Amino acid sequence: MLNCRELVARSSDYIDGQLGFVQRLGVRQHLLICPHCRCFLAQLNLTREVLRQLPEAGPEGDEKLAERLARARQEAP
Ligand SMILES: [Zn+2]
Repeated sequence: MLNCRELVARSSDYIDGQLGFVQRLGVRQHLLICPHCRCFLAQLNLTREVLRQLPEAGPEGDEKLAERLARARQEAP
């Protein structure tokens, strides 16, 4: 059975699907009994999702932000 530190060490590989069957099983077993690591992994997953979406939203998002800033400056007294 993994302990928390071992799980954290493998968490990135687990999310990326880089672990072998036995290792993945070990992670899943630990997650079943450890709410802390479940929470940690959920957070890590969320962070990954956000980071993955950033590049796509990047250029357009910047442009819109600049536009909005410019408009806000014009509207300012
Ligand atoms: Zn744990």
